[in-house]
Amino acid sequence: MLPELSKLIEVQELDKVIQEITEELERLPEELKTEAAALEDLQAQQAAHLQEMENLKGRRRDTETETADMEDGIKKSRARLMEIKSNIEYKAMIKEIAFKEDQRDKQETRILEIMEQMEAQKRALADTEGQIQERQAALAQRSAAVAEAVKQLKQRLAGLEQQRKKQRKGVPAQLLKRYEFIRQRRNGTAIAPVNEGVCFGCHMNILPQQFIDLQKGVEILQCPHCQRILYWQEEEAAEEGDAPQVQT
Ligand SMILES: [Zn+2]
Repeated sequence: MLPELSKLIEVQELDKVIQEITEELERLPEELKTEAAALEDLQAQQAAHLQEMENLKGRRRDTETETADMEDGIKKSRARLMEIKSNIEYKAMIKEIAFKEDQRDKQETRILEIMEQMEAQKRALADTEGQIQERQAALAQRSAAVAEAVKQLKQRLAGLEQQRKKQRKGVPAQLLKRYEFIRQRRNGTAIAPVNEGVCFGCHMNILPQQFIDLQKGVEILQCPHCQRILYWQEEEAAEEGDAPQVQT
């Protein structure tokens, strides 16, 4: 095989791994963003529960004040009852007191309802708080793991980029240019093996004469169907399952 071709195969292998690592480096922080957004949703829920709790406290205070005022009114009416002489007035006052007591009882029922709602909010708050703490702990753990993974991936990437630089030096500039051009249009695979006359890039037969020329290994050939740069893979190597997985 032409030495620049074997170097180019190396370059392609490195490019593929570099591509994978680059994508992973982009994906990892996105994953954290999604988890942080879920936590923010919970915190917003908690804020809403707290606000509702404050509203209920206010309503309870107001209702209790109103009830106390009603109680005062009832006491005053009862005191006046003693001074009333006329039977008609007395009956009217009794009726008024009954009405006021009924109003007060309704108000007390309202207070109980508010207290029940407060209990429900308290439970919801405790539940949300628990979820927030769980999420915060999970996020902290995940952030640390992501930071460590990013650090290691970056180190690996730096090493691979060094290797790629070294390998690229052995490939003529024109060929590299062609390689890059095809790579961008063929999903990262610009150089493909040919086995028994079939291009592994597109799984189609190349021309018989091309195959003969390829086996001679004196010139650089491209697949007539997918334009990938070709190299000859001898039969034994392919049978042993060494054929690289190539995607079209
Ligand atoms: Zn092809």
